Amino acid sequence: MYEEELKVGLEAVNKAMKISRKIQKELTAGDKIDKSDKSPVTIADFTSQAIICSILNNSFPDIPIVGEEESSDLKKPENKEVFNNIENFIKNEEGLYEHLYQKDIFKSIDLGNGKPSKNIFWTLDPIDGTKGFLRGEQYAVALALIKNGEVVLGISGCPNLNLEGEPGEKGFVFYSVKGEGSSQINCHTSDTKKIVVTDHLDKTKMRFVQSYESGHGNLELQTEIANKLQIGEPPVQLDSQVKYGIVASGNAEIYLRIPNPKSPDYKEKIWDHAAGCLIVEEAGGIVSDINGKPLDFSLGSKLEGNTGILATTSGLQKEILEIINNS
Ligand code: AMP
Ligand code: MG
Repeated sequence: MYEEELKVGLEAVNKAMKISRKIQKELTAGDKIDKSDKSPVTIADFTSQAIICSILNNSFPDIPIVGEEESSDLKKPENKEVFNNIENFIKNEEGLYEHLYQKDIFKSIDLGNGKPSKNIFWTLDPIDGTKGFLRGEQYAVALALIKNGEVVLGISGCPNLNLEGEPGEKGFVFYSVKGEGSSQINCHTSDTKKIVVTDHLDKTKMRFVQSYESGHGNLELQTEIANKLQIGEPPVQLDSQVKYGIVASGNAEIYLRIPNPKSPDYKEKIWDHAAGCLIVEEAGGIVSDINGKPLDFSLGSKLEGNTGILATTSGLQKEILEIINNS
């Protein structure tokens, strides 16, 4: 199923990964804008969204794209320099300008301003973990297809990820089609293999991952829960959906995200979780909110019906939920 969507989606994510790698290496202070909610957006976020939306639109013009970014800040006169930098990167990367929708960067970005539909739509985080990207650390290019409120295809490109025992410098793409399992591509060797979550329940060997950014969760409580579980190693902090890929590929067993006490009403965005959620589930894991409720992708651009996230193995979920409940 979804063979064409997977093929085009992988091509789009790969192109965006390639250019974002280049941008991260050459990033300067002037390549960033602070959005009205104070969160940062870089020339890589805009470039990635422009490229991916153009490629998707070319093959699937009738499928709306719900992306994180939009072009209005970029159009402001004070951001002309930022826009010029985007244009330079796109023009200097062979073949990218030709991919652009009507050869227009603003229009290409805004192809991603579609609305969630009851039928079918894409959701895209062109650079998930922008703060990690700015620090030169982890980020993900995350794309998912949602049909009738269910994630049916997920792709998460992780350009800076290293995995234990894997050859090559760094970089992995995780992908999954509903009902068909999950796979990982090593960007260095191009090897593709099926992945599954850990099946052992040896607590001393368990690994726990959480956000790098303290504002994106309740790191103190999460660490307390890791201690109650008597996990040997302290939680590993990483930005973005790479955490889902790490759990799906058996390189960690628990990804926990409890709302930060300073933003208790924060609702998670669908583009931050759709791809990762399917990749973990199709690798045999289980994803829910911190009350054990499955993530509901049918309620618009936010997970309005859920609170926090727990991605883990089915053998561990009950115990973790109990500990959360009693904390
Ligand atoms: P991570 O690196 O896993 O923390 O994920 C990055 C994502 O966290 C960003 O794409 C934001 O959309 C999201 N985010 C921003 N503010 C918050 C918040 N207060 N609570 C939870 N997540 C947030
Ligand atoms: Mg994000």
